[in-house]
Amino acid sequence: MIRFDFARPNDISEAVREGAGDHAAYLAGGTNLVDLMKENVARPLQVVDINGLPLREIAATESGGLRLGALATNSETAYDSRVQSRYPLLASAILAGASPQLRNAATNGGNLNQRTRCYYFYDVDTPCNKRVPGQGCGAIGGRNRIHAILGASDKCIATHPSDMCVALAALEAEVRVTGPGGDRVIPFADYHRLPGDEPWRDNNLRPGELVTAIDLAPEGFAENYTYLKLRDRLSYAFALVSVAVAMRLEEGVIAEARVALGGVAHKPWRSTEAEDALRGAEPSTGAFEAAARTLLAGAEGHEDNAFKIPLARKAIVRALSQAAAGTPQSQTDKRIA
Ligand code: SF4
Repeated sequence: MIRFDFARPNDISEAVREGAGDHAAYLAGGTNLVDLMKENVARPLQVVDINGLPLREIAATESGGLRLGALATNSETAYDSRVQSRYPLLASAILAGASPQLRNAATNGGNLNQRTRCYYFYDVDTPCNKRVPGQGCGAIGGRNRIHAILGASDKCIATHPSDMCVALAALEAEVRVTGPGGDRVIPFADYHRLPGDEPWRDNNLRPGELVTAIDLAPEGFAENYTYLKLRDRLSYAFALVSVAVAMRLEEGVIAEARVALGGVAHKPWRSTEAEDALRGAEPSTGAFEAAARTLLAGAEGHEDNAFKIPLARKAIVRALSQAAAGTPQSQTDKRIA
């Protein structure tokens, strides 16, 4: 049995004090951390249960946006009437993920901080640089059907598993954190990391920092959006490729388009160049194919996952077409329109 200390702080400053140690882990919904502990992948010496903290509220911000408490569950967020009416892209992405039971337990902060589902990461008998720095990567040259085609390194080719985060990337949310050094706000694009030479670092949180909320800007792209997720079965499966599109049309022309990809990289993947090229264009298959080529520039397949490149190309075109037409992908009837 692996022993660990357990703390249940009553306020945020106490939580940060308890979570400041080298081997501490914050526990919220537990839908990933508990699995990792059972598999002997995560071995915290101190578990800090933050479920008693006042971080569950979903409330309007002064700027006219919406603040999602870190401890609001994924279900509470997806079914919040303000999220559904103003940020349907986010609601759709959340409902594309996991299962109802998991969404009822999983929290918004936990969704950001969940770890890759790379098979080798969970198998302590195989090498993994993310689990044990310097050990090697079992997926490179091994089984890599679910792995990255963009932004990978020779140390790690894992993907980030979240659907919610793909929508948050397209919505350009901000992550509010607090920690031993005080409060700060991290733009969503800077929250997660590419693996580089330090694949064990999933995000840019500093030691002991705690996510307190996620801020959504006033613009929610509620008219023209979609979350298209392609996977091996129609529910309860991680994305092989997913595409979040947030678009604004003015007089039939694309005034703004944001495209984020999931299932293809260590973080949600965007391309400023592709989005700039869409601005001012009329919606057309040609413009969408050009955006797909730019988004996927430099994509590299491995033994089992090269299929993701043409799959992503077609998914980007389909998702942009859905968003432009105002016919977002349904998350209940999963047939692709
Ligand atoms: Fe570990 Fe990353 Fe390699 Fe998977 S891809 S085995 S997580 S180093």
